[in-house]
Amino acid sequence: MKTFKGISASPGIYIGKIFLYLDEISQVPKYEIQPEDVEAELERFHSAADKAGDEIQALQQQANSSMGSEESRLLDSHLLMLKDPEFTKRIEDNLRSDQMNVEWVLYKTAKELVKMLESSQDTYLQERTIDIHDVAKRIHNHLLYRERISLVDIQEDVVLVTHNLLPSDALTLNRSAVRAIAMDMGGRTSHTAILTRAFEIPAVLGISTITKHARNGDEAIVNGNEGTVILNPDDETRKKYEHKMKEWQRREMQLLSLNELAAETKDGKHILLKGNIEVPDETESVLAHGADGIGLYRTEYLFLQPGGFPSEDVQFEEYSRVLQDMEGNGGVTLRTLDIGGDKVIPGLEGLDEKNPILGWRAVRFCLSRKDLFRTQLRAMLRASVYGDLRIMFPMISGVEELDNVLEVLDSVKQELKKEGIAFKENLPVGIMIEVPAAALTADLLAKKVDFFSIGTNDLIQYTIAVDRGNEKIAYLYEPFHPGVLRLLKIVIDSAHSASIPVGMCGEMAGYPLATVLLLGLGLDIFSMSAFTIPEVKKIIRSVSMSEAEELTGIVMEMKSATEIDSLVRKWMNERFDLI
Ligand code: PEP
Ligand code: MG
Repeated sequence: MKTFKGISASPGIYIGKIFLYLDEISQVPKYEIQPEDVEAELERFHSAADKAGDEIQALQQQANSSMGSEESRLLDSHLLMLKDPEFTKRIEDNLRSDQMNVEWVLYKTAKELVKMLESSQDTYLQERTIDIHDVAKRIHNHLLYRERISLVDIQEDVVLVTHNLLPSDALTLNRSAVRAIAMDMGGRTSHTAILTRAFEIPAVLGISTITKHARNGDEAIVNGNEGTVILNPDDETRKKYEHKMKEWQRREMQLLSLNELAAETKDGKHILLKGNIEVPDETESVLAHGADGIGLYRTEYLFLQPGGFPSEDVQFEEYSRVLQDMEGNGGVTLRTLDIGGDKVIPGLEGLDEKNPILGWRAVRFCLSRKDLFRTQLRAMLRASVYGDLRIMFPMISGVEELDNVLEVLDSVKQELKKEGIAFKENLPVGIMIEVPAAALTADLLAKKVDFFSIGTNDLIQYTIAVDRGNEKIAYLYEPFHPGVLRLLKIVIDSAHSASIPVGMCGEMAGYPLATVLLLGLGLDIFSMSAFTIPEVKKIIRSVSMSEAEELTGIVMEMKSATEIDSLVRKWMNERFDLI
C-alpha cells in the first residue's frame, strides 16, 4: 500500500482497477535491416495499416450508434489520413533509403510530417498534426501486435492513471467507464481539471510520479475530496474508504433534494446559481442540479475538435440547441472564443508562443482574426431568437479593447440587419473580469456593459503571477490572498455603483469554503460546475446577509491568505459539514 498526495481537482471517491494510459509510441524499437528484408518490412507496414483501417471503420460504426458527431468527425479524419498516398509513399521511400525496421521508419516519418505541417501557412493542414500522431500510434500497435486501447475504447470501469491529459483527450474519453482519474500533471483550475468536474469524475492531479508506481490492473482508491490516491490498499483501508464512498453518495442524494428550493439567504436576498458548461450535452446536468441558467458556456471546446473551425451554421445549431434546452430555465451566457493559454488548438499557427498565458489569447486573438470572430458573433446573434441569450467577452483588459470588441459586435449586427436576418437587438452584453487591469478600471468598464462576470481562475493567476496549471507552484494559487479579495471588492462595488449585476464564473464561485465570504462581498450570481450547486445553495440558505457581511468585514482586515483561510475554515466548520 502506498499513498500519494496531489491536488484535489474533482470531488468524489472511487475504488477500482487501474488502467495505465501511457504514450505507447515513446517505446519504439530501432534496429537495422538487410536490403533483402525491405519488402518484408513494407509488407508488415501495409498489413498493420490495413488492420488500423478496419479498426477505425469498426469504431466508426460504433460511433454512429453510440457516440456524438464530434467523435465521429475525429475518426473520419483519421481514416483520411491513413489512406493518404503521400503518407504511404513517404514510409516506403524512408524504408528503402534508411534500411531500418518499419516501426522506427513510421516514427521518423510521422515526425517529419508533423514538422512539415507545423511550418505550413494553412490552418487546416496545421491541425492535421494531431491526426498523424494518432494514426501512427494505431499502426504502431498493430506492428507490435498490440491492441490499441484509446480513451474512447475503455469499456470497463477503471481508474485512469496517466501522465497528462489534454483537454481534447478529456473530451473523448468514455465518461461512463472512466470512473476516476489520477494524473502526474495539472493544477486545480487547469482546463482538464475543469472538464473532470464537468463530467463528475473524481480526480486527483499534480501527483508527479503516480505513473511510475501504478501498474495496470492494480487496485487504487482515488479520493478527489482530499486529493489523495492510495495504491494497493490493505483490507482495513479499503473498508474504511468503502464506507466513506457510501457516505459521500448519501450526502450527494440529500443535497439534490434542495433542487426545487430557491438560493435565498435567511434574510431574503435572492442569489442566482448558474451552471458552467464546456460541451452542449452538459445542459442535462445543469437542469438536473436546479441551476438558474447557464452562466458560462465555454464555446472554445467546439473549436478544439479536429476537422477545422466550425462553420457559422454548425455554431448556430449548437448555440440554438443549448438555448432551446434552457428556455424557461434562466437562459444562457455564451462566451466568445477564449483560446490560447492552455487551450491550444493543435497546430494553429501563432499560438505556439514563448509566453502563451500572457499572449495571444481570447479577445486579443479574436480582434486579429476578425473573420473567425465575426463568424462566431453572427452565429450567436442568429441563435438569439431561440432563447434568452447573453453574450460575454473574455480577457478584456481595458476600455479601448472593450470599445474595439463592441464595435465589431455592432458592425456584425448592422450586417445581419442589411441581410434581413433576425436577431434580438437588445440582448445583454457583458464582460469577464479576469485581468487585474480590468478589475482596477471596473468603474470605467461598468458604464459600457450590462453585466460583469469575474473569472477568478485567470484573475488569481494574473494577480499572484502563478500559472494556474503548474502543480509545482500550486501552493501559491490562493483565492483568499488579500490582493485577490481586494480586487473582488473593487469589481463588485464598481458594478453596483453602475447598477449592473455582477457574477463570478471562475472555480471560486463553486468553492463552498468561499460562499459566505462572496455573499458578504455582495456577489449577485454564482456560476459553477453544475454538481456543486446544491452544496453552495445549502450554505446560502443557512446564513443571513448580516452574518456574511460581518465575516467579510473581519476578513478584509486580515493580512495573509493563511490567516484568512484558517478563520474562514473555522467559521464554516462550526456551521456546516464541509468536505
Ligand atoms: C476564469 O478564468 O475564471 C474562467 C472562468 O475562464 P477559463 O477558466 O475558461 O479561463
Ligand atoms: Mg479565464
